[in-house]
Amino acid sequence: MSRVTADPSATERAGEEFARLLRPGDVVLLSGPLGAGKTTFVRGLARGLGVLERATSPTFTMVREHRCHNDLGIVTLHHADVYRIQSLDEVVDLALGELVEEAAVAVVEWGELAAPVFGEDVLTVFIGVGSDDRRTIDADGAGARDRAEALARWAS
Ligand code: ADP
Ligand code: MG
Repeated sequence: MSRVTADPSATERAGEEFARLLRPGDVVLLSGPLGAGKTTFVRGLARGLGVLERATSPTFTMVREHRCHNDLGIVTLHHADVYRIQSLDEVVDLALGELVEEAAVAVVEWGELAAPVFGEDVLTVFIGVGSDDRRTIDADGAGARDRAEALARWAS
């Protein structure tokens, strides 16, 4: 399922609406080149989960934790950026897989680097960069199969 955005605010909105189909325990692996709009998407996603503070890039801390206020049963958003990881062990050390068990969602920028740690049951979001400000946002993954209808609505 994909959605094209023409500017950063549209990418934020895509993230905000994507948040509405999340459930406690979800892991979202975000990929796409530097400057694609991953953090922009997460900013919207955080808003969709009712995070009150502004989501900034966690590049230098690897993971930021945000308290959520929503009716989805999601209490915490873990926002990770694994761009600088040297090995998968570092991702394992973040223990995101364990953290999400407790009413949380984890969103991982450069998620493709961390994919082996999380296995099959994840949502994947790929942001592709066009020739101008347009971005194509593709959402997929085994975790998306049982909410295909909601995703189709998100894409349209
Ligand atoms: P990433 O986290 O993938 O490195 P960021 O979200 O930090 O990317 O930055 C995306 C950059 O691209 C921002 O400077 C933003 O203004 C710009 N941009 C231009 N068009 C778009 C768009 N359609 N969606 C998202 N960002 C866009
Ligand atoms: Mg980023």
